[in-house]
Amino acid sequence: MVSIEDIQKYRIYLKYLEEKLGKYFEEQSPYIFCKAGCSSCCEKGEYPFTEIEFAYLMIGIQTLRPDIIAKIEQNIQDIKKQRGVNKEKKFLHACPFLIDKKCSLYEYRGIICRSHGLAFFDKNQHILVPACVDEGLNYSNVYDFQNRTISSEKYKQTGITQEPLAHNVGVYYLTNNEITKELGLDFGEIKPMYEFFLKD
Ligand code: SF4
Repeated sequence: MVSIEDIQKYRIYLKYLEEKLGKYFEEQSPYIFCKAGCSSCCEKGEYPFTEIEFAYLMIGIQTLRPDIIAKIEQNIQDIKKQRGVNKEKKFLHACPFLIDKKCSLYEYRGIICRSHGLAFFDKNQHILVPACVDEGLNYSNVYDFQNRTISSEKYKQTGITQEPLAHNVGVYYLTNNEITKELGLDFGEIKPMYEFFLKD
């Protein structure tokens, strides 16, 4: 159960995170092609969330217009139905909060939504880039598509001074690190977003 105190601590953490991620996005800007109107990262995914992040989204819902809430509820019902027939382990779907190609809960979005777009280290310290690299977007200007890795050769050819770098912005790290511990923030288990809907 997420308490008001948890949400207060989470808000403090989000301020810290916003500043930190803002610096990373600025530093990596030669490789970031996110732009208004592009919602590719919210159209197909699992969206790993924790209890606290999901509770914060639910607070955000209360600020929306009734017609938007109705659309979100319909999207959630559709996801539940799709999950019912689609029993494969990895279930990818559009985020139900994506309305008219925009996040309806932008201020309340999860941590993965905030860090998405940057190259990052996974749990095994492998460097990963966002899936939109295959659409000619983030990091595609320095990516070796054959070997599925950032290419130092391609980077040299760009003439860009700032190197393409991965940061520790995987959701596992961002929900469990020295700052979250200092704040006493226990995010709990990370689950695909749809699992929160199936609880009802
Ligand atoms: S909550 Fe918003 S930013 Fe996050 S996946 Fe859904 S639509 Fe995208």
